[in-house]
Amino acid sequence: MKKSLLFSLQDRPTVLVSACLLGKKCRYDGKKTVNPSLLFYKDLINFIPFCPEQLGGLPTPRPASNIFGGDGMDVIMGKAKVINVEGKDVTENFKLGAYKSLELALRYNPILSIMRKKSPSCGIQTPYCEAKNGMGVTAALFKLYKIKMIECAPNDLLIYTGAFLMLLNPSQV
Ligand code: SF4
Repeated sequence: MKKSLLFSLQDRPTVLVSACLLGKKCRYDGKKTVNPSLLFYKDLINFIPFCPEQLGGLPTPRPASNIFGGDGMDVIMGKAKVINVEGKDVTENFKLGAYKSLELALRYNPILSIMRKKSPSCGIQTPYCEAKNGMGVTAALFKLYKIKMIECAPNDLLIYTGAFLMLLNPSQV
């Protein structure tokens, strides 16, 4: 017999997601953004929201930040710094937030982490660095630990992601 399309609570896949994509007001400017297509999956997925910059002790709102001397991978390796637009060095906050986010990933063992596009923390690619196609700090750490990631912006449709999740859990459909 064909099973229900809805996952039972304990069978739902766990997915980490940048909290701002779920409408949490954790962005640097304190504004709310949301990816509406994520809400479509709320009965299928256990979402674990995370915000590395808040986990790293930075307030909201906060000045925007850029990576100097490389990208997020270079920050993790101690070769680059994160400086906010007021000139304050926030490298340690970004690293702490990345490691606390990694703790969540290791604790919950998600099948996927959905990362906010372009962010100097969460972006798999970020323009806010001095490296071509450079990564955000948390995305770089996740890459080192082989956490599976995709990135999206608030307006991106995640229909294909949903299909991907179903493929990963064929016994549920
Ligand atoms: Fe927080 Fe990442 Fe969203 Fe920035 S992109 S607000 S660090 S969750």
